[in-house]
Amino acid sequence: MPVPRISHSGEAARAAALQAEFNEKRWVWVPDDKDGYLAGWVVKEEDDVGDVVMAAGGDIRRLPLYALSKMNPPKFDRVEDIADLTFLNEASVVHNLRLRYGSGAIYTYSGLFLVAINPYQSLPLYSDTIVQQYRSKRRDENPPHIFAIAERAWVNMGEERENQSILITGESGAGKTESTKKVIQYLAAIATDTHPPTPSHSHSQSLSSSSSFSSIMPSTGLPRSPSVRRHKPHQSVSVTNTGSHMTSKGRLGLLERQILQANPILEAFGNAQTQRNNNSSRFGKFVRISFSPDGSIAGANIDWYLLEKSRVVVRAEAERSFHVFYQLMEGGGALKDTLLLDGGVEDYEFLNKSRREVDGINDYEEWNALQNAFDVMGFSAAEQLELFRIVAAILHLGNITITSTRADDAVMPDPSQAERVCHLLGIPVAEFTRAVLRPRVLAGREWVTQARTRQQAIEEIGALSKTLYEKSFGSLVDRINRALDRPSSKANFIGVLDIAGFEIFEVNAYEQLLINYTNEKLQQFFNHHMFVLEQDEYAREGIQWEYVNFGLDLQPTIDLIEGSGNAIGVLSLLDEECIMPKASDLTFTNKLHQLWHGELAPGEEPHAGRLKYEPPRFHQGFIVHHYAGKVEYHTDGWLEKNKDPLNDNLTRVLASSSERYVASLFAEFIDTPAFSSGPGAAPNMFTLGKKRTLKKGAFRTVGQRHKEQLSSLMAQLYATQPHFVRCIVPNAHKKPGRIDVPLVLDQLRCNGVLEGIRIARLGYPNRLPFVEFRQRYEVLTPGVIPRGYMDGRKACLRMVDALELDKSIFRIGTSKIFFKAGVLAELEERRDAL
Ligand code: ATP
Ligand code: MG
Repeated sequence: MPVPRISHSGEAARAAALQAEFNEKRWVWVPDDKDGYLAGWVVKEEDDVGDVVMAAGGDIRRLPLYALSKMNPPKFDRVEDIADLTFLNEASVVHNLRLRYGSGAIYTYSGLFLVAINPYQSLPLYSDTIVQQYRSKRRDENPPHIFAIAERAWVNMGEERENQSILITGESGAGKTESTKKVIQYLAAIATDTHPPTPSHSHSQSLSSSSSFSSIMPSTGLPRSPSVRRHKPHQSVSVTNTGSHMTSKGRLGLLERQILQANPILEAFGNAQTQRNNNSSRFGKFVRISFSPDGSIAGANIDWYLLEKSRVVVRAEAERSFHVFYQLMEGGGALKDTLLLDGGVEDYEFLNKSRREVDGINDYEEWNALQNAFDVMGFSAAEQLELFRIVAAILHLGNITITSTRADDAVMPDPSQAERVCHLLGIPVAEFTRAVLRPRVLAGREWVTQARTRQQAIEEIGALSKTLYEKSFGSLVDRINRALDRPSSKANFIGVLDIAGFEIFEVNAYEQLLINYTNEKLQQFFNHHMFVLEQDEYAREGIQWEYVNFGLDLQPTIDLIEGSGNAIGVLSLLDEECIMPKASDLTFTNKLHQLWHGELAPGEEPHAGRLKYEPPRFHQGFIVHHYAGKVEYHTDGWLEKNKDPLNDNLTRVLASSSERYVASLFAEFIDTPAFSSGPGAAPNMFTLGKKRTLKKGAFRTVGQRHKEQLSSLMAQLYATQPHFVRCIVPNAHKKPGRIDVPLVLDQLRCNGVLEGIRIARLGYPNRLPFVEFRQRYEVLTPGVIPRGYMDGRKACLRMVDALELDKSIFRIGTSKIFFKAGVLAELEERRDAL
């Protein structure tokens, strides 16, 4: 038997006993709806059907053999890298994660991935002592940890002078933002130390080098660093400081502190309480931290994606708007007077229709934290006022009442509400009111006054509120970026992506399409990266392999969504419909079917996306086959969502605001001479006296904007060396210690961990250096290799010959032998049988 992985002699004996017990039966995992998989052993096999005795209960189930998954021997329990499992199947993956999570080990590697399962409790894993424990250590020298990923990125950056990225995805509540914070905490701490990475200490070799562990355990081809040497649950981390946060804050320089303090600001404005997460990020972000050649932090920059701005107007009853609204109401004090806020949360329509307070969130304290962050960041009182001016204006907008007596004569019976809004936004009440109730629109060649229904006017106010919020958010991030941008020499960066993972809801809307499209691209990036590493390894070993570029697997779905070359995609079709007269969500949907499901004209080339498209089952919409599964999208409201409409009457009024900040938010739509950008820098349109015409092409659809942002992100990512973190929600109750296996499996499917295992198995996933192969399996071929020295490769050739292995199931490289999945397991069995 392979050497047990546990060193104490008592435990070794126990392990041997476990192994003996295991050897007596043919253990398998049996699929189970409730528990995911249950343990059992096969007692009878006939044709393709087996009888399995269930370990719990002892009843016998008859199942088709393909439904059963082989169980890994007990010595594999709690392996730190799933890639080390002999049997790489879903059941074993999730069994391993469950065992580890049960013993407090929330982090596990799976080849290129770090899987992080939300502990839902504060663990002593992030203190300064632990930071030091991960400093200058290889991945296999410590238990799996988010710090190990940050360390690796840092070292690779220093040694290879290459930009790095850490891609963190997962469902809402899985822990992406917490993980992002840990990465930044780690980088801030180590960059402050005066130890820049030194080329002598080499992690970069780790992908190809073998470890002491692989000498006793076959390794799978999931590209990975050398594996774990021994089982070490997290409790064994030497904890001397149980505080969950670094203690070295005092040592950090201003820039480091500013980078850390960007977060409370972003969270106040971009996070909200939802049913899944009390502090849910309602936007995606890519934070790049730049380093100088000496290893110190040289600056930082934040890009953001897809802010859920509709939340300022509506949301589910059990949820809240963005935190900042409640913080301002709780902590605003005298500022509230300036902003004409004389009521409480219950007095504002945009806040009082849904939840107002949340356990565990103290809005007053958060307000103070926000103030502190603004101070560290260097936001002046005037700049803060601009931001809160927008927040307050939105609350007042929500309180404007609109009535009507006929169908289309919307009126504002009480002008005082509009007056507050206009006072704060620095715009004339008459113009504002007219733009909302009776805008001038171009009808043919004539400008006419359009009568508005009550509903239309209300929607206009909603649209204005959302646009104001989003623009102000964008401007806030720009301001933070200016604070974090230092004119120092920057060598390389480490970028951390914190973005929502794949979403499959009961009703999937336009937002889900954009998120899932993003994830399809990110998964393609992963597949491509893994493919490149695999290809490199096979090339290094001089092995013939039919290269299948796994990245291409996802291309048809991506083409379907974004189009390719001149071919139209779902997003461009939607853009076209948005400018068609008389177009509607229905005409859009019908065109989708025509394009991807209609009959082909004779000789017509079928669109690649056709294979990934299906008509919907019940609703107005369509189904896309994503790598993570089929998703049915409902197309209600898509045209409006994509156009993101705000009538240009309102845009002009706002662009002409006497408040420079407000005017600057809308300046992009107006033709003016170039002026320096930034809050406060935009000139007042009235004083400029320019003709205010709307810029052509300034309006881009939501889809276009996202496509552009995403392609810029992807271009950056492809130019980095990536690291992948996958966060997992363990159960639906936000409770520690419980793993809901079907829920976790779903996530492993959606986040690509299982996909990573699938593509590893397409190649020759198990590989062993010649020496190790010989050491371990020479017992199966007695007398084949002569005594004395023999070249490793030659010995290997003789052995496979004697073992009568089929040529298709192995490849011999220059230093290693490669096997298809399962071959080594069979050799192991032969060995056990000796
Ligand atoms: P969303 O997509 O909604 O923004 P998310 O993936 O960013 O979700 P987080 O906000 O990072 O999720 O985590 C949700 C909550 O889970 C945290 O507020 C915290 O209570 C808990 N949590 C996550 N990770 C950890 C951790 N490593 N240690 C302790 N608690 C954690
Ligand atoms: Mg988050």
